[in-house]
Amino acid sequence: MNHCVLKIDKAGQPINWMTKQEAATLLCNNKVIWSFGEDVIEIRGGINRSGERSILKLHPILAVEGRVSARSYRVPLSNRLLARRDRHICMYCGQKYPLNQLTRDHVLPKSRGGQDVYENLVIACKCCNNRKGDRTPEEAGMPLLAVPFRPTFSEFLALANHHVRADQMAYLEKGFKHQQMRLN
Ligand SMILES: [Zn+2]
Repeated sequence: MNHCVLKIDKAGQPINWMTKQEAATLLCNNKVIWSFGEDVIEIRGGINRSGERSILKLHPILAVEGRVSARSYRVPLSNRLLARRDRHICMYCGQKYPLNQLTRDHVLPKSRGGQDVYENLVIACKCCNNRKGDRTPEEAGMPLLAVPFRPTFSEFLALANHHVRADQMAYLEKGFKHQQMRLN
């Protein structure tokens, strides 16, 4: 499923990614307030009586009707997002790895009260994670290559989608706060 349309609320805050079909449904139900973006996404519909296929055209950023609860804007935490934030680079040895070879490392170890939050987590290769063990980076003599950060909601949306269009990225970047995100 290709989540290629950026859904925003009427205040302009990004909400989520949608598939073309979800976007088309909103459009047909008159839920779209306005839309923009440089590109035009075409959705092929059914074939009418005269044998022509209907084509719905929409912009890649759609502002939709309705209220959004604050819960919708919570940034979820997963190894996949951590890996994307840290560009699949082990934050101790600097090597790049595929996701399945990366682990979640607690900077301040869990056993010592370290929390399972973005600010205390980095992505690390299994080898470095084992070597660090139950120690802080200072104790282990393994300095972090970058300070871990909690993504803003816009940063999360950029990290969650591998195929962000240039105009969508320009829109999301208005909500970026961390320098590291420019490298992603
Ligand atoms: Zn490593």
